[in-house]
Amino acid sequence: DTARSVSVQRLCCIGAGYVGGPTAAVIALHNPHVRVTVVDRDEKRINAWKGKHLPIHEPGLNDVVRAARDGLCGRKAEHERRDYANHAQAREESVRQPNLFFSTACTQTIAESDMIFISVNTPTKVRGVGAGRATDMTALEGAVRDVAMHARPGTILVEKSTVPCKTGQLIKDILEAYRPGVSFSILSNPEFLSEGTAVRDLMRPDRVILGCESTISGHRAAAALANLYAAWVPRSKIAPINIWSSELCKLTANAMLAQRISSINSISAICERTGADVSEIAKSIGMDARIGPQFLKAGLGFGGSCFRKDIASLTYLAESLGLPEVAAYWQQVITMNNFQRDRFARSVISSLHNTLRGKKIAILGYAFKKDTGDARESPALDVIRILLEENPNSIAIFDPLCSEADIVRELRAVDSETEIMQPRGPVEIVSDPYTACADSNAVLVLTDWDMFKLRKSNRAVQSKVEEHQFDGAAPTTILQLRHKADKIPVPAATLLT
Ligand code: NAD
Repeated sequence: DTARSVSVQRLCCIGAGYVGGPTAAVIALHNPHVRVTVVDRDEKRINAWKGKHLPIHEPGLNDVVRAARDGLCGRKAEHERRDYANHAQAREESVRQPNLFFSTACTQTIAESDMIFISVNTPTKVRGVGAGRATDMTALEGAVRDVAMHARPGTILVEKSTVPCKTGQLIKDILEAYRPGVSFSILSNPEFLSEGTAVRDLMRPDRVILGCESTISGHRAAAALANLYAAWVPRSKIAPINIWSSELCKLTANAMLAQRISSINSISAICERTGADVSEIAKSIGMDARIGPQFLKAGLGFGGSCFRKDIASLTYLAESLGLPEVAAYWQQVITMNNFQRDRFARSVISSLHNTLRGKKIAILGYAFKKDTGDARESPALDVIRILLEENPNSIAIFDPLCSEADIVRELRAVDSETEIMQPRGPVEIVSDPYTACADSNAVLVLTDWDMFKLRKSNRAVQSKVEEHQFDGAAPTTILQLRHKADKIPVPAATLLT
């Protein structure tokens, strides 16, 4: 009954980032009668969402945005090849009005909306109480304050951002402070998409978690949001749960995924010293139905903007609840991740006879994983940081998607005092892999982009290049020369497929 009584006409999403943009686009695509507006303070980002070149790269995203934002999309033949695009095409055939908008008019959009997603960044605090672990709630608080001051009474607020458990209470307190006596509903709807597969994940989610308060208005609000998702997600996959469980389940999910990576990486260290092969182990244990094959790829460890910060948030939460043993348990996942990077960088240095002076290192891949241009918290950054301490002559970085500006911003954050970028410093970002590899003493493949797959069949390369399997698994491959004085002996092109 409640499900039928609530319907959303206007939805606002605060935050036009990796989560807000794609999520709003997919909701708009499947709910043509709901006007969806994504707002952000970042004018450049909003203009990019309005234009031809979207600010983030995700396979399939252009099609979805074009359909919902522009009302139409051509190029049918191309669409037919892809499942998610077929949704866009099916809706296109019934000709739709544009219902996805991007704007910097935050307050006006908030005032007009009956449901508001909060999808702002929630990074780790860099200074002050809990620095390095606690979640920085500045952006979230700012967004909630805007909602408090401008939203209509009864508006439904949806936590999309990943937040510490009990943030719903904090939101309530902020709302009450700015609009005493006015009632709003608060839902927690954590996002589980992965960068690189965001559209696929949104189109076919494993589950949609709706955390709500156990009041009539809480259930009504949850029903309204469930109705939006039910436009394309089977009802059996939409799970209404307690709001605190919902907040904590997102941190738990990320912590457990990261934990699997650290677990297999810890085994890779043993493999290297014993001759066991970590990929064989991963395959063998992955065949156990209780374990499963996912997230068992040994490598440089996890990167990206979420896993480390979410584990930090979990450990801080545990500590502040007086549970230091729990905090220490999860902290180990991060410790192992750091250890893995460190081990890899040291193995590069020792492969090059313990000195990088006068040498050039090529780095292929900067993004924290393939199919995304997100340069945040890349494993490559940690590796580069350690290599720089050995004063290499140069480090040339190539990534097919990360923008030069994003990479430079991340690198500068490592060491803002020393000039590390060329022309005076050793680091340069280059626009093709061949330039990166030319005259280099070692080629490090740090992102598993398909284009970097080594052609195993290429004997010319095989005979001249030694492939050091750091831990038996891509992407952490060091290609090094057999003859120490040599430079990369073959055109780098032959290394690439
Ligand atoms: P992001 O940094 O890409 O985007 C956040 C956006 O919010 C920015 O563009 C920023 O300008 C905007 N913003 C901040 N405060 C604002 C305000 N008061 N008004 C208007 N705009 C404001 O972040 P993201 O990667 O999209 O992540 C958002 C949230 O989703 C985080 O909590 C993150 O942990 C979570 N999450 C991220 C992923 C992922 O893969 N990136 C996946 C699941 C969940």
